[in-house]
Amino acid sequence: MTSLPLYDRNAYQRSCNARVSGYDETSLIFDQTVFYPLGGGQAGDSGTILTQTETFRVRDTVWTEDNRLKHILEQPLSPDQQRNIIGTNVELTLDWNRRYRIMQLHTALHVLDKIAPFRCTGAKIEAEKAHLDFDTEGEKLDSAIVDKLNDILQEQHEVQTHSIAQEDLNNTPELAQTIKLAPPVKNGFVRFIQIGSNGDVVDLQPCGGTHVKNTGEIGKIIVLKNKSRGVKNRRLVVGLED
Ligand SMILES: [Zn+2]
Repeated sequence: MTSLPLYDRNAYQRSCNARVSGYDETSLIFDQTVFYPLGGGQAGDSGTILTQTETFRVRDTVWTEDNRLKHILEQPLSPDQQRNIIGTNVELTLDWNRRYRIMQLHTALHVLDKIAPFRCTGAKIEAEKAHLDFDTEGEKLDSAIVDKLNDILQEQHEVQTHSIAQEDLNNTPELAQTIKLAPPVKNGFVRFIQIGSNGDVVDLQPCGGTHVKNTGEIGKIIVLKNKSRGVKNRRLVVGLED
């Protein structure tokens, strides 16, 4: 049985009811969850699990090999706690401030990737900082690109999610071109994130992560580091201005 990923439909849902469907000594699996698992460069969620009698802390969330969402606990379960855990009804609650910062930075990186004059080769998004790696072929990357990024974010572009059938994708070259890596495919559909609308589309690319609804929610992005990574690559590390 797979876990229903509620964050796919609504990234703003902070809590949900769920039922325990699997466990081991250090983790729990539920029939559904609001916790996003580590993937696509985005950090896994942390938060709290509440049963009728106990509270557990989740320090990270990851995929299992059979497509279930594993909530990794800060403290291992005792044999007593494990005994009757299957089928237990719980309430799951995200560390929302952390997740929201991740959504803000993640959405900003889409735009940064779009406006950068170099090919992006990697990404990582955490709550305190996020980075993109670029193949600059030895050239410098001007930090002023983040000023341009902030100008675009302040234009308050709407962020929309589209599901496009994989077979339609093959017949739509302009969409297929946006795909740089193997896209996240679920049940034959690819999830696209579109930033901007009405003839002013800033970016369109496949992504399975969590994003804000409007770039106006992001505030100002600041450069934390702009450093070389080997001979040809540079890493631009950014954060939110507090
Ligand atoms: Zn994304």
